[in-house]
Amino acid sequence: MRVLITGAAGFLGSHLVDRFLEGGHDVVGLDNFVTGSPDNVAHLADHDRFRLIEHDISRPVELEGELDGILHFASPASPVDYLEMPIQTLKVGSLGTHNCLGIAKSKGARFLLASTSEVYGDPQVHPQPESYWGHVNPIGIRGCYDEAKRFAEAMTMAYHRAHGIDTRIVRIFNTYGPRMRAGDGRVVSNFIVQALRGDPITVYGDGSQTRSFCYVSDEVEGIYRLFMSDHTEPTNIGNPGEFTIRELAEIVVEEVGGESRVEFLPLPQDDPKVRRPDISSARERLGWEPTVDLREGLRRTVPWLRAAVEDGAQAARTLHD
Ligand code: UDP
Repeated sequence: MRVLITGAAGFLGSHLVDRFLEGGHDVVGLDNFVTGSPDNVAHLADHDRFRLIEHDISRPVELEGELDGILHFASPASPVDYLEMPIQTLKVGSLGTHNCLGIAKSKGARFLLASTSEVYGDPQVHPQPESYWGHVNPIGIRGCYDEAKRFAEAMTMAYHRAHGIDTRIVRIFNTYGPRMRAGDGRVVSNFIVQALRGDPITVYGDGSQTRSFCYVSDEVEGIYRLFMSDHTEPTNIGNPGEFTIRELAEIVVEEVGGESRVEFLPLPQDDPKVRRPDISSARERLGWEPTVDLREGLRRTVPWLRAAVEDGAQAARTLHD
């Protein structure tokens, strides 16, 4: 296959590029490097089945040649980033998705949307099955991301129904691993970088809110299998192992070592109180489930961030900076 991956120089996008190349496919990557970095695909500079184009997919693009698949992964995904770039976030979710679907239609290509557990908002059903419609504040600070992705899902289903486009929707739950920026701002990289530097571990609220953390290789394998399947319904891909943020802070300090203490900061508006995927659908239809638990995933992630910190990478970024 020849596939187009938007956000190819991002954290998840670049791992997905690697997975498709491993599978023997040709990959065209698109990125505007707003949150992604060419460094993430620098190891592929001489790969004869990979090409990287600098472009913002919120604006139309014409691509030469045949395409069999498009995977739309371009978007800020860390709350710190999308709160800084709310309009770009809304545009890449809406206009960017529309542009991708237009390419899918003209090329007869399959389209996979990177959606998110954020479509469930601050959920009133726990754990979250795909059938749950969600509980989202459209005008709150997270609305730019949540509603962009909800619109993107609606647009994807409209093209599927109206134009018969072959579509897939993955709802991605909190994912972590190598290639996350030290200053990404999401909780796993923040806590690791803070522990490495001996800075305070910044827990928002009382830390009783929960998240379920998926290691990147598991996430990417689930997405790859979904793309290759014939399943057009939205599919949760995440690790159901659920932790409070305080538990995460303790585990990270145990794994990294050091003397960091916990500092409590205000809980941001609309921060979901719980989040955990129901992955029955992925288990049944894709034969997929995560294989890397939190401690093992942290052990694989810490060396990456340690190297970045030693290289002079920026400190952790919080919503309160
Ligand atoms: N969080 C925190 N300290 C940080 C960053 C995040 O306590 O430095 C909390 C945040 O309030 C949320 C959870 O960790 O409850 C996950 O936040 P993240 O930004 O990683 O992603 P989210 O799941 O909220 O999109």
